[in-house]
Amino acid sequence: MKTRLSKSSIGASEIQSVVEVLKKGYLGMGEEVSKLEQELASYLGGTASVVCVSSGTAALQLALEAYDVGEGDEVIVPSFTYVATFQAISATGATPVPVDVEYDSGFISLTEVQARMNKKTKAIMPVHYASSCRNIEQFYDLSEATGIPIVEDAAHSFGGMCGQRKIGSFGETICFSFDGIKNITCGEGGAVVTANSAVAQRVKDARLLGVEKDTEQRYSGSRSWDFDVSRQGWRYHMSNINAAIGRAQLHRINEFTQQRQLLAKVYVDELKDEKKINLFIDNLEGICPHIFPIKIDASLRSKVETDLDHEEVEFGYHYKPNHLLSYFKDLSQSFSVSELLWDEVITLPLHYDLKRSDVERICKIVKESINGD
Ligand SMILES: *Cc1c(COP(=O)(O)O)cnc(C)c1O
Repeated sequence: MKTRLSKSSIGASEIQSVVEVLKKGYLGMGEEVSKLEQELASYLGGTASVVCVSSGTAALQLALEAYDVGEGDEVIVPSFTYVATFQAISATGATPVPVDVEYDSGFISLTEVQARMNKKTKAIMPVHYASSCRNIEQFYDLSEATGIPIVEDAAHSFGGMCGQRKIGSFGETICFSFDGIKNITCGEGGAVVTANSAVAQRVKDARLLGVEKDTEQRYSGSRSWDFDVSRQGWRYHMSNINAAIGRAQLHRINEFTQQRQLLAKVYVDELKDEKKINLFIDNLEGICPHIFPIKIDASLRSKVETDLDHEEVEFGYHYKPNHLLSYFKDLSQSFSVSELLWDEVITLPLHYDLKRSDVERICKIVKESINGD
């Protein structure tokens, strides 16, 4: 059987929760979504608002729009991220402005951001690559000094800590993804977590076609008929079915975090002394690792790929730099670190249902591959 790169872990409680929603017959956005939002807010410490939407990409788009990001504006973003981050920005009408990342962490480089800021810069979107929050505080200092908001793409890091604080419990506006393979899943889904109440209200309205205060109506079991719409909105709300899966998953977050940490720790212990391998993550303290990418010299990587293939171990490449994609190419300059990472990166399997022995086996394949002849 193939060892999968990533997958969800769905148990009896998720299935039962969905069945209950189906039996109740209220499938759209209602009570379950409201409860998931309250439970997420209390999990994160209770001060920020949580607004659930149909995907992580939708969360990023609506968060930016809530800050009035649109045509003619620029949003600074690492080139080395999933295309979702870029598409969310361009969906607002704004231009994604790629910058390079740090080789060590894959995190957006603060100095590169500072060098690219100008009058058109309307937001900065750091990505928590491989669940790291790196020097996010320094980005908030920059935001404080310039008035340019930070919208965090924390799709990789739900359930993790940044130092002593939970990711999503500090900062201003943080977006999570609950798609099928993320740290917790709703099937598909996402959330905007924000300490800014005006942003929260704008996202709430925007996810329901811009119908003002429709969220409040739906949570009390009714809907709006005689309403007003004063700006562009989208059909980006979350359904009760997806929320029910998310609620069951949120109950299991500690279990998920422990297992992901344990598996990532096996990778680190097994691979950290290999001269031909560079890790992104070596300090796992507090994080809930979503993926386990490593860097291997480009001349050795294809051999490792062949050997993993042969042993039926799936692998991936997080990520192809976005400035190399046709749609975003006219923005193109060269970003040497992102391009080097694209040549060297390979992502090894990491998900809740893997066992320690699976990870040991994968490490053995990788080590034999790079050290053999
Ligand atoms: C998954 C992901 C997203 C988008 O989330 P979806 O829920 O799949 O839309 C955005 N950014 C990054 C880095 C991701 O990994």
